[in-house]
Amino acid sequence: MDKEQLAIARLQDAARLSEHRYKKPLMVTYSGGKDSQVLVALAERAGINFEVVNSHTTADAPETVYFIREQFKAMEEREIKCSIVMPRYKDKPVSMWTLIPQKLMPPTRLVRYCCAVLKENTGRDRFIATGVRWAESTRRKNSRGVMELMHKDPAKRIILMGDNDEKRQLFETCNLKSKMTVNPIVDWSDDDVWDYTHSEHLPVNPLYCEGQKRVGCIGCPMAGRGGRQREFMRWHAYEKMYISAFERMLDVRKAKGLPCDWQTGMDVFRWWMEDDNISGQLSMDDLMGEER
Ligand code: SF4
Repeated sequence: MDKEQLAIARLQDAARLSEHRYKKPLMVTYSGGKDSQVLVALAERAGINFEVVNSHTTADAPETVYFIREQFKAMEEREIKCSIVMPRYKDKPVSMWTLIPQKLMPPTRLVRYCCAVLKENTGRDRFIATGVRWAESTRRKNSRGVMELMHKDPAKRIILMGDNDEKRQLFETCNLKSKMTVNPIVDWSDDDVWDYTHSEHLPVNPLYCEGQKRVGCIGCPMAGRGGRQREFMRWHAYEKMYISAFERMLDVRKAKGLPCDWQTGMDVFRWWMEDDNISGQLSMDDLMGEER
């Protein structure tokens, strides 16, 4: 079976299980990136019942936000149900800029609380499809599967690393109430994704045409120092928004009597951008101990 047919078969399996377990259609997550564009095209080709959901992170590039709106309009014209989920935290609307002061620390590679709040809350107790791929990182290669049943207790998680994984029956019959995920293109390379995009004439986020390698949140700690520097040069207003959020974060830390050697939001920003020349850094242990 070729990769397209295998991905379609995975989507059909997941859609069947979604209707069976949750009595709801498969939820296809959409970020405006190339992988989720391919995912939607495959779901359409699979002939399944599905809906498309975008988690609005509030830190996406404006170009990506406009692209998502355009694509949702086009999908709705093809009678696909689409929705944009606005983030909430502690039962209140939240954004990256209001979350940072509440969490008392900047988001980091080790503590990606922003993903947990702004993106991963979507699809709780649903079967979701994502464009996650092993080729994206070693971490994903080691931790993500074709299908996954997530649970807060790691011992109860079921991750199928292949289509004929021996845990398949356990996965299908498990009664745990939690989020299930299918990653239909998990084994696709970057070239596979671009080849499919071009051969199927799929729409492409204009930021790729500018040479951007990723179109996620601006300043994402996962993007690496050089990538983030380029992003802040391209979208300077976001640098200002982070600095201002860090300033408000320092105010809250001071009000709570927490250790606070940083003087300004700019000090925090430099530390966050991994500038070794800045003094007054808190250790990760200090920060993580206070993370709420
Ligand atoms: S900044 Fe990165 S880690 Fe945070 S929500 Fe966005 S993608 Fe996730």
